[in-house]
Amino acid sequence: MATSSATERRLQRLGLHTPQDYIVHLPLRYEDETQLVPIGSAQPGQSVQVEGAVLHSEVQLRPRRQLVAVVGDDTGRLSLRWLHFYPSQQKQVFKGRLVRVRGEVRAGFNGPEIVHPRVAAAGGALAAALTPVYPTTEGLSQPTLRKLIDRALESADLSDTLPDDIRDRFGLVPFAQAIRALHHPPANVSAADLLEREHPAWRRIKFDELLAQQLSLARARAQRLSQRAPLLKPQNTLLLKALHARLPFALTAAQRRVVDEILADLQRAHPMHRLLQGDVGSGKTVVAAIAAAHAIAAGAQVAIMAPTEILAEQHLHKMVDWLAPLGVNTVWLTGSLTQKTRRDASQAIQSGQAQLVVGTQALIQDKVAFANLGLIILDEQHRFGVGQRLALSKKGELGPDTDTVIPHQLNMSATPIPRTLAMTFFADLDVSVIDELPPGRQQVVTKLLADTRRHELTAHIGAEVARGRQVYWVCPLVEESEALQLQTAVDTHQQLSEILAGMAVGLVHGRMKPAEKAQVMDDFRAGRIQVLVATTVIEVGVDVPNASLMVIEHAERFGLAQLHQLRGRVGRGSAQSVCVLLYQNPLSAIARQRLRAMYETTDGFEIARRDLDLRGPGEFLGVRQSGAQILRFASLETDAALVEQAQQLAAELLAAQPETVDRHLGRWMRGKQDFLRT
Ligand code: ADP
Ligand code: MG
Repeated sequence: MATSSATERRLQRLGLHTPQDYIVHLPLRYEDETQLVPIGSAQPGQSVQVEGAVLHSEVQLRPRRQLVAVVGDDTGRLSLRWLHFYPSQQKQVFKGRLVRVRGEVRAGFNGPEIVHPRVAAAGGALAAALTPVYPTTEGLSQPTLRKLIDRALESADLSDTLPDDIRDRFGLVPFAQAIRALHHPPANVSAADLLEREHPAWRRIKFDELLAQQLSLARARAQRLSQRAPLLKPQNTLLLKALHARLPFALTAAQRRVVDEILADLQRAHPMHRLLQGDVGSGKTVVAAIAAAHAIAAGAQVAIMAPTEILAEQHLHKMVDWLAPLGVNTVWLTGSLTQKTRRDASQAIQSGQAQLVVGTQALIQDKVAFANLGLIILDEQHRFGVGQRLALSKKGELGPDTDTVIPHQLNMSATPIPRTLAMTFFADLDVSVIDELPPGRQQVVTKLLADTRRHELTAHIGAEVARGRQVYWVCPLVEESEALQLQTAVDTHQQLSEILAGMAVGLVHGRMKPAEKAQVMDDFRAGRIQVLVATTVIEVGVDVPNASLMVIEHAERFGLAQLHQLRGRVGRGSAQSVCVLLYQNPLSAIARQRLRAMYETTDGFEIARRDLDLRGPGEFLGVRQSGAQILRFASLETDAALVEQAQQLAAELLAAQPETVDRHLGRWMRGKQDFLRT
């Protein structure tokens, strides 16, 4: 079958290039057109196909305009209803015509009915098997897709990637059999099993997919371990000692442990790929500073990158405060620099004069070339897109004349990775955990307050400020419009300034110029602003330990992870802190669950677990936004047992059967290797 270029483009969009792609383009569901049932046996909830005579047909005008028909046979009657219809549909159901009708039966006002049924003339041939319904895209019809897939099934290689003994051991049906059964289920197969993906054919496909993922992660790890990274061994420990002496606190035991883990990695000749995970406020920044100092003492350049300008700027302050007196030359690089400053910064980076570079996404732009990048630190790494992380991991790969040297990479995040995810997506990531908060912290008390009682907050804010403390007031997300969100922030600032007469009320939002933002944050940090009205620009990383009250308006609009991050802006000093979640009734069920979770726990692990429950892993990881699909068939929630089996087999194959590994990856992983590096 020849395909037009428009069709070609649509197929590409679905990721369909070679016959191998087509054969694993599997149905979403099936339609049963293999049999006709007597009309009298059609039960609500069933999908049925019946034949009968049209007994009646009319366009009703009340309660709304709709087309209604009744079909019947010897056993019973069935109503058909179209809420929108074309004249052609009306013509299909003239009284007396014999029709074949297909659709889902529901309990209607006058007995069983089908809304928007499919209608054809009675008497056509019945399908021999369930009819597959494939994932498709606008403009690409099911029949076209079916034909192309059937053609691929004839030409593609369906041979098994797994030897018989392994299939037997894991109870797997042959690949070819599984693939054929899913595209053309035999008439006796249960549509329900296929839909739930519990049929042995599905089990085989899911197993294959998970196995491929495990194998490629293990390969990626092996590849990383074979790559060269700068071996960062300082001549002496003067810089580190001096840094420790400058810190206003002693490290916690957990911080000391993770520092040891990181510094040990930096002294190896292959690239570190480590996640530093610690709940909000656990003190990750100082660990980053120590890692940076170590790398700099060893003669390398270090890049620290944060997802927002406010956070990057805060890091700059801290790093300069801690490291500049020790002679470390730090450079600032963001998108908002003037051309000249930017050129100077690039020059310093390129010449190697800049030892530490702090900045935002601008750091990964192509033009910035490092002389000698040894360590990349990514703060709040989950906020960076997959593509950005990939660009960054390629950054250190110096030109073609040097042997590729990859910088070490330290990712920091407050978001813990649940175990199933750690086993699947992050198998090539070492994890260090700060499981202890600095001493003297008190748990943040969380209060839920209906928006109608917001006036009660005035006294509370006054009391905090009278004690010398500071307050954040976070304005609601307005998803539909950024302009509206801005307006809300400006209005709230205005109102609070009036109500809280005598207090210094500041405002920070995303549309302000970077310099203005920085000024406001400086004023807040220095205590010149007592109440800071903010949008979510302060969501991650902002550290002002003297702030002890956080008010979040329309808390029901925020996600759980976001609420936890926002709440983490307080409780960073020794004062008792409070987080007030203002909400507006009525609450949706999911919003209620989120607010309850916030009320019940301050533990980031528990929050992440509940968040995963509420959102599912795709969204949790942010992969859905990135458009990159990692698992198409298996589900981490329901296939945990398969994940373990696949992991076990992967280890075995890698050790003993490299050809099997190649064969299996060849089928499942073409073109996806890059993604796994991030
Ligand atoms: P996060 O892990 O959320 O990035 P930060 O690095 O911003 O946390 O640290 C939170 C606060 O705790 C900061 O004000 C920091 O100076 C302080 N801090 C970090 N480590 C310690 C420690 N060992 N003892 C006391 N305070 C600490
Ligand atoms: Mg932080």
